[in-house]
Amino acid sequence: MEKFEIIKEETVEEYGSKVVMFRHRKTGAEIMSVSVPDENKCFGITFRTPPDDSTGIPHILEHSVLCGSRKYPVKEPFVELLKGSMKTFLNAMTYPDRTCYPVASQNLKDFYNLVNVYMDSVLHPAITPWTLKQEGWHYEIEDASKPLTYKGVVYNEMKGVYSSPDSIHMRRCKEELFPDNTYGVDSGGDPVVIPNLTWEKFEGFHKKFYHPSNSRYSLHCLPLFLLCAQARRGGRWFDGSMVWG
Ligand SMILES: [Zn+2]
Repeated sequence: MEKFEIIKEETVEEYGSKVVMFRHRKTGAEIMSVSVPDENKCFGITFRTPPDDSTGIPHILEHSVLCGSRKYPVKEPFVELLKGSMKTFLNAMTYPDRTCYPVASQNLKDFYNLVNVYMDSVLHPAITPWTLKQEGWHYEIEDASKPLTYKGVVYNEMKGVYSSPDSIHMRRCKEELFPDNTYGVDSGGDPVVIPNLTWEKFEGFHKKFYHPSNSRYSLHCLPLFLLCAQARRGGRWFDGSMVWG
């Protein structure tokens, strides 16, 4: 616990919960621990990820980091967890200015495992130019007599989003309202702009924003000392060699 300092403590009467804010001394990462009588144990990692264009970097990265990591070099750890874990929540979300990775389980051992996989995924993903091609965009040719087309998981997903008049209307409104800041561009990716994304920019974005000093963590129903005890028992997410070094 000497690696952390308590910066705020509060009781939220409406929820019968005690909330403690910690700061990791070395990186400045903040952790909010919420103790409530609930069977679910929840953990969330959030990075501030403001994009400066509509190439969809935050969204493509959100998909890509869950495609294998240093400790879990399998093709799709996220899908393996969906199939085999006892999770009560498992997903990731891209917002206009941040990206969140929440997990939850009612089983403590399963919960530790989920946290372990997610922490390694976001901080040590095995992303390569191929990951960008698969999750972002690549050229595809189905017939030699036809022109090249674009394909990619996020590219296809966003084509679906941009086929909705409501989505396009909202996007245009935001462009007009926020012409000179991050809220004017689309963190999800505009299919017209996504193919402008290069590997260098993609890799650089991860290096710049996916760092403990740019992150916030939340714990629900699990006091921090329990996690630290887990770290001492061999869990590696809070030890110096990985996350907090
Ligand atoms: Zn997506």
